[in-house]
Amino acid sequence: MNVVVVGAGIVGAACARSLAAAGCMVTVVERGAPAGGTSSSGEGNILLSDKLPGPELLLARYALRLWPAVIDELSAELEFPSLEFERKGGLVVSTTEAQPLLDFAATQREAGIDARPVSVTEALELEPELNPAIVAAVHYPEDAQVQPAIATEALLASARRRGARILAGTEVVGPVLAGEDLAGVRTDSGELRADRVVVAAGPWSGEVAERLGVRLPVSPRRGNILVTAPMRQRIFHKVYDADYVGVVESSDADLRTSSVVESTRGGTVLIGSSRERVGFDDRLRVPVLRELAAKALRLFPFLAGVPVIRAYGGFRPYVPDHLPVIGADPRLSGLWHATGHEGAGVGLSVATGDLLRDLMLGKPPAIDPVPFGPGRFA
Ligand SMILES: Cc1cc2nc3c(=O)[nH]c(=O)nc-3n(C[C@H](O)[C@H](O)[C@H](O)COP(=O)(O)OP(=O)(O)OC[C@H]3O[C@@H](n4cnc5c(N)ncnc54)[C@H](O)[C@@H]3O)c2cc1C
Repeated sequence: MNVVVVGAGIVGAACARSLAAAGCMVTVVERGAPAGGTSSSGEGNILLSDKLPGPELLLARYALRLWPAVIDELSAELEFPSLEFERKGGLVVSTTEAQPLLDFAATQREAGIDARPVSVTEALELEPELNPAIVAAVHYPEDAQVQPAIATEALLASARRRGARILAGTEVVGPVLAGEDLAGVRTDSGELRADRVVVAAGPWSGEVAERLGVRLPVSPRRGNILVTAPMRQRIFHKVYDADYVGVVESSDADLRTSSVVESTRGGTVLIGSSRERVGFDDRLRVPVLRELAAKALRLFPFLAGVPVIRAYGGFRPYVPDHLPVIGADPRLSGLWHATGHEGAGVGLSVATGDLLRDLMLGKPPAIDPVPFGPGRFA
């Protein structure tokens, strides 16, 4: 089977690798540079802790099962920098009310997640620099982290070793049709014929789908991150404020921020994150950065004395029902999607690639694919 994947972000890279490993002839078409979109503009958390029981949580658990093996395979087959995969665990804390966080953790435990309420003293043992004024904390030992730009490049390199072609600097501009079916894509440098076309264009997926002839409600949801100067490790888990879950699940177009703080292998601390729907406006706005910094200080007061060396942002691929879009589009034969992962595409990428592969090759999928089906937009 001949497959064109549109987009060389982490989702397109994971799909390309899974499909190439299964024997498909894969061509990845990327209008810019690989890993040049959202996949290099966020953090690399692989989280269960922020997901409500339901299909996305099942996809996340599937991903978390796959990641360690994928990391081992990539490390064995490539001479690459470390992918910085770490099962560091998450610590979710509440600075206001205890009960909503504890109730949320209880529903997750019922869904099989290891969500352990800890006392303030125990939380301070896990994170000695944490503000002791918290009122509740839950430890999620399964949460992990990966370096997203390196992971994207590694997945692409691995796909290439399995025969995939990567065409960077090539933009998909329209469909190639055979009667009513999609039979490939037109690019700015010629036609590419294919049995299947996978839209994995992140926040631009709506635009790419439209160029191919269907409407897909994927739009950008802006997020910003602050990066501190490197320091000795003083934060050991991904630590975030319990109100983050509400912000993730909200559909507000207006600015929403919630404190998410973690250290990286390089010694910097990443402070996130904001969510707002402002189209593809990529200007950094001081009020957003100020709010991020102020909320981080509520969790880790020591950060007041730490310089910020950088701020950056990206566009999450937002879908109104907050579920990724994975599978065949019933409106146009030959068109498939792997997109709409919003703030979880790094973590969910490898599971998306395997799920898409199984659906495309008619194998039994590891989890129920129906909730992710593009048919919901038909
Ligand atoms: C601030 C922030 C923090 C985040 N933190 C996390 C996190 O901790 N954990 C997590 O899992 N996720 C996180 N995310 C979300 C994650 O980054 C995204 O879900 C993920 O990167 C999406 O990957 P993608 O491959 O779908 O899209 P992208 O990486 O954007 O790739 C899509 C590619 O398609 C290309 N493209 C577009 N149009 C065309 C065209 N016409 N022709 C050819 N190519 C085209 C683009 O150039 C781009 O390279 C965060 C995002 C942000 C913004």
